[in-house]
Amino acid sequence: MENTPASNFLQSIIDEDLSSGRVKEVVTRFPPEPNGYLHIGHAKSISVNFGLAEANGGRCNLRFDDTNPEKESQEFIESIQEDVRWLGYRWSGEVKFASSYFGQLYDWAIFLVEQGKAYVCDLSADEARDYRGTLTEPGRNSPYRERTAEENLDLLARMKAGEFDEGAKVLRAKIDMAAPNMNMRDPILYRIRKVTHHQTGNEWVIYPTYDYAHGQEDAIEGVTHSICTLEFEDHRPLYNWFIEQLPIDNHPRQYEFGRLNTSYTITSKRKLKRLVDEGMVQGWDDPRMPTIAGMRRRGYTPRSLRHFCEMIGTTRGDGVVEVAMLEHAIRDDLNDNAPRAMCVLNPLKLVLSNYPEDKVEQLQAPAHPSREELGQRTLPFTRELYIDAEDFREEANKKYKRLVLGKRVRLRGAYVIEADDVLRGANGEILEVHARIIPGTLGENPADGVKPKGVIHWVSATEGRRATVRLYDRLFNDAEPDKGDRDLMQLLNPDSLHTVTDAWIEPGLAQAEPEQNFQFEREGYFVADRFDHTEGAPVFNRTIGLRDTWNAGAGQ
Ligand code: ATP
Ligand code: MG
Repeated sequence: MENTPASNFLQSIIDEDLSSGRVKEVVTRFPPEPNGYLHIGHAKSISVNFGLAEANGGRCNLRFDDTNPEKESQEFIESIQEDVRWLGYRWSGEVKFASSYFGQLYDWAIFLVEQGKAYVCDLSADEARDYRGTLTEPGRNSPYRERTAEENLDLLARMKAGEFDEGAKVLRAKIDMAAPNMNMRDPILYRIRKVTHHQTGNEWVIYPTYDYAHGQEDAIEGVTHSICTLEFEDHRPLYNWFIEQLPIDNHPRQYEFGRLNTSYTITSKRKLKRLVDEGMVQGWDDPRMPTIAGMRRRGYTPRSLRHFCEMIGTTRGDGVVEVAMLEHAIRDDLNDNAPRAMCVLNPLKLVLSNYPEDKVEQLQAPAHPSREELGQRTLPFTRELYIDAEDFREEANKKYKRLVLGKRVRLRGAYVIEADDVLRGANGEILEVHARIIPGTLGENPADGVKPKGVIHWVSATEGRRATVRLYDRLFNDAEPDKGDRDLMQLLNPDSLHTVTDAWIEPGLAQAEPEQNFQFEREGYFVADRFDHTEGAPVFNRTIGLRDTWNAGAGQ
């Protein structure tokens, strides 16, 4: 089988399993806990699980590991499905829920009790911690460990019936309190939680732990390759132990790969939730968030995210990937695919004194420099235009390749002009630049041989449209905001959002569809906001600048 870029060592394992006949069809799953929005790390896991199933003609389930009802919600369940679909993946059959296996998991718990492999324990959380020992010291057996199967069955049934308070009892596996692997020291299978569950309502007051549920869920679904991140490596012996004790035929095998972390980024739902809850961003889908929904709103494309996940490969080591690589992936995609347009972010009026007041020329320009099939766009040219204030100086040295009094520039896709004069306001500020077009310079050099110094972008002041443009920058100034437990507030970039309310756009841009990407020439890549953009009140978000100037210390 051909090696896909997303695969590496996992694909080699699958190749062997298929050729040895151990596995007939590859079945994977992506098993998020619905306790937050998905982030860039999850995009990696999605691309690995769905990608491997796709590449090997198998299938991939989407399963919500909903064993912690307090932290979960329907909003998260919906956003996760939307993100997976948006990335371009389709799960096999219906969406799955760990909670739909609660009955089976409970029956298996009874089975373990009957076999003397599980017991009800009354130690408090503090006592249990004390009995558990440490990495260097063995734990001690719980005084409740030798309860008879009969007594345990009775207590478990009464736990389920709601007779005991939260924390009063747990069901534990009976394995080995001296095991070097702490996960094997009589781990908890069930705890009492008198909370309503978003799927099962008030049916249950005991809930299985992730550790007890996870492997069995995979087995029930016929998962062949349980792919997860490295922190679950030490849990593998426990997952295997459960499957071996239980009357289960299908034995999924677990393989771990390194988590994706990117610099300047937080990839912990808990910390991302804090940013949302404390109002440091405007929601889970704020375009500065490393969530899939945030990146989507920022203008990232599914293609760029999938490509990024392939580029970084899948290894057995944890590491930090430069966020510049992610930015490279989106720039690369948009450079190839985004239509070009003009937007003036910092408008300065330019009046062309030799151009008739009521004349409008409908100039044509290609939507993309190398992709003819993207067609043409219309740029109305008029006597009054806006240029960027940065593109004009009264005087400047030779390095300044823009408009200077007495000098020439070309207006992108239009005429060469020469600046004559400025009009000042009461405080001496420049209100207007007065200039002339050089006739006959549409697509031609000036006949007198005096060439323009550069090319600047522009928008008609009378035919163009006003727009809101949000200029985003990195959310964190710190390269490793996830490291340790530092105060996130201290690491935030105070200038991560700058909103321009009087930008001017070429008129065709007002008709952009929400989520349509563009390159604003000389400015960067922008997207029509998914929710706020309308033809009457256009709103664009900056996805990324044309060049990365972050490392140069210049900001963007
Ligand atoms: P978080 O710590 O952000 O809450 P999690 O691991 O608890 O993440 P889950 O919802 O349990 O999130 O994750 C679903 C799947 O996504 C798991 O298989 C997990 O291993 C994987 N995953 C989570 N974060 C990353 C990451 N940074 N890189 C790769 N895979 C990840
Ligand atoms: Mg988790």
